[in-house]
Amino acid sequence: MTQFSGKTALVTGSTSGIGLGIAGALAARGANVLLNGFGDAEGALAAVRDAAASQGGRVAHHGADVSQPAEVEAMMRYADDVFGGVDILVNNAGIQHVAPVEEFAPERWDAVLAINLSSAFHTTRLALPRMRRKGWGRIVNVASVHGLVASAHKSAYVAAKHGLVGLTKVVALETARTNITCNAVCPGWVLTPLVQAQVEARAVSGGLALDVARDELLAEKQPSGQFVTPEQLAELVCFLSSDAAAQVRGVAWTMDGAWTAQ
Ligand code: NAD
Repeated sequence: MTQFSGKTALVTGSTSGIGLGIAGALAARGANVLLNGFGDAEGALAAVRDAAASQGGRVAHHGADVSQPAEVEAMMRYADDVFGGVDILVNNAGIQHVAPVEEFAPERWDAVLAINLSSAFHTTRLALPRMRRKGWGRIVNVASVHGLVASAHKSAYVAAKHGLVGLTKVVALETARTNITCNAVCPGWVLTPLVQAQVEARAVSGGLALDVARDELLAEKQPSGQFVTPEQLAELVCFLSSDAAAQVRGVAWTMDGAWTAQ
């Protein structure tokens, strides 16, 4: 198993769902982990400290709202001061908003773009100089199948995730001659709070039981009929962060139960 002892990982949006799974897996391999996100920070800290227990990596949380560039700058300064910089940057924070484009509230559009796309630009531009000085770095952007294909009513999310895949490729090119890599992962449905909200909305609008709404949601897009899990995605992120993946550069790697194979 790849070890990340002595490395520091920042996982944005890691108090919940996929980010929390990734943070735990990196901590279990010895990385220091800086968590970020809203909600139950204490619970997330406890879970990741448990995962780190036998490894001895340090775990902390910074509550930056990543839609605010000044708060991202403060978080990156904190990572520099407390951990000596970020070696593994996982841009994972994300929100969803669902509405037809002509009814899409402009402030929701701005928020989705700021959190799902611009935040990754800011963390990346701030992390890269130190990665270049250290001569090693890994950037993994948690995009989505919606970075590759579209679904109706998700204009801001699809635009942001396509943008994130584009940013990934540019950063991969700009770092191609270094030991820094930048890649994206593109999950299909993962049953996290972000998706549970969509299951509940479908149940209400269709007058369905929750489990029926969940099965319908999967059946519509994901041929495997099964959710991807945060643990499975975390293993992929650990691989992309490993030395074995040194020549994996600029990819948008799907884990989607064959969603995009159709
Ligand atoms: P989630 O709602 O469980 O977690 C989102 C995390 O982002 C939370 O920790 C939340 O506090 C944090 N966050 C939200 N706004 C923030 C802000 N302004 N500043 C800082 N942190 C903020 O969602 P999830 O499903 O785990 O999603 C994680 C990532 O995976 C997102 O980028 C999402 O688009 C992507 N994704 C999810 C799925 C899925 O099916 N769940 C599929 C593809 C991609």
